[in-house]
Amino acid sequence: MRAMIIGRWQPPHKGHIEVAKQILREVDELIVGIGSAQESHTLENPFTAGERVLMLTRALAAAGIDLSRVHLIPIPDVNNNAVWVSHVISLSPPFEIVYSGNPLVRRLFKEAGFKTKIQPMFKRKEYWGTEIRDRMIKGGRWEELVPKAVVKVMREIKAVERLKDLSKTDYLLR
Ligand code: NAD
Repeated sequence: MRAMIIGRWQPPHKGHIEVAKQILREVDELIVGIGSAQESHTLENPFTAGERVLMLTRALAAAGIDLSRVHLIPIPDVNNNAVWVSHVISLSPPFEIVYSGNPLVRRLFKEAGFKTKIQPMFKRKEYWGTEIRDRMIKGGRWEELVPKAVVKVMREIKAVERLKDLSKTDYLLR
């Protein structure tokens, strides 16, 4: 069986990698949809789809996951929830089940006839993209919340510098 999990992965954290391991105990192959693929360089979505692909590939491999069982597919948003599932299907290898903690994602796939499942949550208060991005801006300890392989890519792309710049305002200059 092939499963889909779709997220923004801004950035991928240790909870996401645990989830991937868990799902791969239940299914043969996992499609990791890189949602909001058109977004980058904003406080909510600082990383490009390509950077997220790199972070996920490296972190999944470092976790000992066989990458021949994983498919990473960038999926831009569409401005219409009612057609989003067909859009995802049009870009992805075929799949039968969707794992998500996001109620809207589960609802849309359920209405389209897919089996859906809530994946377990791991340390949700810390393993949380908003918390990680916040710590990066404020100079907190974000490195412990993401896999080492992700820290390495973040350094390569100067992620902290990018987030800090994005958080600045020109308000005082006006
Ligand atoms: P996310 O990156 O926040 O999370 C990805 C997955 O990881 C989710 O299933 C989430 O529940 C899970 N997760 C998060 N923290 C975890 C933890 N600590 N432990 C275990 N699991 C954890 O992504 P998201 O916001 O759910 O992504 C949905 C994507 O689908 C977005 O890109 C959104 O824009 C897209 N979408 C688009 C449309 C549209 O274009 N009309 C409609 C619906 C959804």
